[in-house]
Amino acid sequence: MNKKEISESIAAVSNYLYEKGLVPGKSGNISCKFSENGVKKVAITPSGVSLKSVTPEEIVIVDMDGNKIDEVMNQNNKRDKKPSSEVFMHLKVYKNRNDVKSVVHTHSPIATGFAFAGVEIKRLEGFGPIENTVIPLVDYAAPGTMDLAENVAKGMEKEDIVSLKNHGIVACGENLDEAALLTEFVEESAKIQFVTSLISAN
Ligand code: 13P
Ligand code: ZN
Repeated sequence: MNKKEISESIAAVSNYLYEKGLVPGKSGNISCKFSENGVKKVAITPSGVSLKSVTPEEIVIVDMDGNKIDEVMNQNNKRDKKPSSEVFMHLKVYKNRNDVKSVVHTHSPIATGFAFAGVEIKRLEGFGPIENTVIPLVDYAAPGTMDLAENVAKGMEKEDIVSLKNHGIVACGENLDEAALLTEFVEESAKIQFVTSLISAN
C-alpha cells in the first residue's frame, strides 16, 4: 500500500473504532509502518483530534525517530497537525518487533475499567496463539511519556495486546485490520468477564 492508501485505511479504521465506542472523546491513536523508496516511515493519527471524524489528509507521516516528515495538505493547504502524543509508544513497539506493521491504542470503556481496577482481563477464544491466559497489565506511566513508551514496548515483546494500568489498551499486528480486531476482541472479553462476574456473584 502507498502513503495515500495507508492514510485512507487509518482514517476509515479510526472512524469505525469511534462508532464502536472503543475510542471515546479524543482518546486513542492508530499507526502503520510502511516503506517509501526503501525508507521506513510511520503514518499516525494526529494529536488532539477525535477519531470520529479524522480524515486521510490529517494523517501525519514521521520517520522512525518521530520527526514529522509529511502530512497530506489539508483543505486550506496547511500542514498543521502534530503526530499523536503517543508516537514514541508506537515507534518503540516497531523497533522491538519487526513483524509488527500496525499499532492501535484504544480507551474502550469496559477493558479500561479493568485497567483502572488493576484486574487482568482473561483471554477468550479468537486471540490466536496464546502465550498467557490473561492479557498482561503494563505499569502506569503518564500518557505521552517515554516511560510509558518503554513500558509498553517491553510488555509487547512477546504479546500482541496489553492493558495499560489506569489508561487503556494497546494492540499490534502484522496489518491494521488485525491490530484493530484485537482491540474489539479485548473489549468483548472484558464485557463477558464483567457479566460473568455479576452473574456468578448471585
Ligand atoms: P493523542 O490525541 O495525542 O493521540 O492522545 C490520545 C491518547 O489516547 C493519549 O494516550
Ligand atoms: Zn490513551
